[in-house]
Amino acid sequence: MNPTETVVLLIEDEIEIRRFLRATLGAHGYKLIEATTGEEGLRLAASHQPELVILDLGLPDLDGLTVARRLREWSPVPIIVLSARGQEGDKIAALDAGADDYVTKPFGVGELTARMRVALRHAARGEGDRAESIFEAGALRVDQAARRVTVDGHEVHLTALEYRLLQTLVRHAGKVVTHRQLLQTVWGPTFTDQNHYIRVYMHQLRNKIEPDPARPRYLRTEQGVGYRLSDE
Ligand code: CA
Repeated sequence: MNPTETVVLLIEDEIEIRRFLRATLGAHGYKLIEATTGEEGLRLAASHQPELVILDLGLPDLDGLTVARRLREWSPVPIIVLSARGQEGDKIAALDAGADDYVTKPFGVGELTARMRVALRHAARGEGDRAESIFEAGALRVDQAARRVTVDGHEVHLTALEYRLLQTLVRHAGKVVTHRQLLQTVWGPTFTDQNHYIRVYMHQLRNKIEPDPARPRYLRTEQGVGYRLSDE
């Protein structure tokens, strides 16, 4: 095996998708291992120790959500969920259970590989423990050590809650963060059904840092799921 190849475990029962990913991910320098059921996927995850898992939510034996939960009991490996229309609830539950990101079928290989790169980068750094205290994307700069936010060099004054919301997204920059994860981190575990809190504070935050708050450049909405801070 080529030592520079990143080993990826694909857990997917649809043969067309396996064939497509085998060809495209191979061409991108990934070494693909394939499982067609959840149980087989869990076995291969233990025996092959992949660096990333791509997990279909609709599997013939276990549902993908159960596979994500069981993987997370012992492994920090990044998990990207493949979801189809009608699996929105499972997708969000999988993210809340520790999956790192998702793509919705049908997806393009560019979208999937971009998500894979972000997930692998986060895994290399150690989740929630970003080595750099300074985050920069476009004109936005967040200095976490100084708790200072600037846009185009101009300081932006944020309330404590607005800052905590932004900082939570900075820690997961490039990745989707669910409503539930944001509420839990920013407001605390008793507020996890208060989605309107996030809407109100996200609106304020966008007004302060976005060049055009109606068409966010940094704070992207992931419809029905949560938000993603653009990291480029
Ligand atoms: Ca399937």
